[in-house]
Amino acid sequence: MGPGICQVCGRWPAQPICDGCVRRFGTPRMRCITCAAPLSRTETLCGACQTRDPSLALCRCVAAMDYAYPWDNLIARFKFRDGPGWARPLAQLMSQASDTPALLRSSDWLVPVPLSPGRLASRGYNQAWELVKALRALQPDSPPGLANALVRLGDAPDQHSLPREQRLRNLRGAFAAHPDHVARLLGRKVLLVDDVSTTGATLRSAAFALRQAGAAQVQALVIARTLPH
Ligand SMILES: [Zn+2]
Ligand SMILES: [Zn+2]
Repeated sequence: MGPGICQVCGRWPAQPICDGCVRRFGTPRMRCITCAAPLSRTETLCGACQTRDPSLALCRCVAAMDYAYPWDNLIARFKFRDGPGWARPLAQLMSQASDTPALLRSSDWLVPVPLSPGRLASRGYNQAWELVKALRALQPDSPPGLANALVRLGDAPDQHSLPREQRLRNLRGAFAAHPDHVARLLGRKVLLVDDVSTTGATLRSAAFALRQAGAAQVQALVIARTLPH
C-alpha cells in the first residue's frame, strides 16, 4: 500500500481509500435483510430468501459494499498481495455502513469465519480475524472477538478428537463450534465477520454450527456482497 495516496483514485494526501471514492463507489443501497443481496424494490427479502425456511440460522446480514470495482480489487490486495495492512481501511468501510452500529450493539461476540488450516498456513493470517481486530480498534465499545470459536471441517486436524456425537452433528455443515468455546457461546448473540459473501451459503453454514452449539442469535457483517448475475 503506497503511503499517503488514495489507492483507488491516486489523489493525495489521503487515506488508503479517500472519502470521495467511498461516496462515488459506495452509495448505500437497499439490501436483503438476511443475505445482503442488492434489492431494487422496497422489499426486505430477496426472492431466494423468501423461499427459505423462516427458522434459518442467520437472521441478518449487512454488507458495506457491492463486490464490484474498486472493492473487489482492494479485497484481493488484502488477501493475496499486500497483506493485513488493508484490514483497517476495509473495516472502516464496514463500520460506516448505517446498520453496523446496531449490529455491534446487539452482539456479545465477534466471530470470524475460519479458514481451513491449509489456507491459514499458506496465507499466514485469517483476513476475517484481521477485520475483527480492526473493527474493535475502530469501535472500542465493540463486543470482544472469539478467534477460534468455529473450526472449518473436512481438513480440521482436531476433528478426530471431537466426541462421536459432535462428529455426527458436524456432518450437516462445513463448520463446527470449537468444543473449548461452546460454553462461551451458549445463549449468546454472535456477529459473524467475513470479507465477502457470495451466496450467503458459507455464512448460513457457519451460523448453523453456532446455533447448534447453543448461540441464541447469529447475524453477519461483511465488506462486500457479490452481485446476482
Ligand atoms: Zn480516492
Ligand atoms: Zn436474500
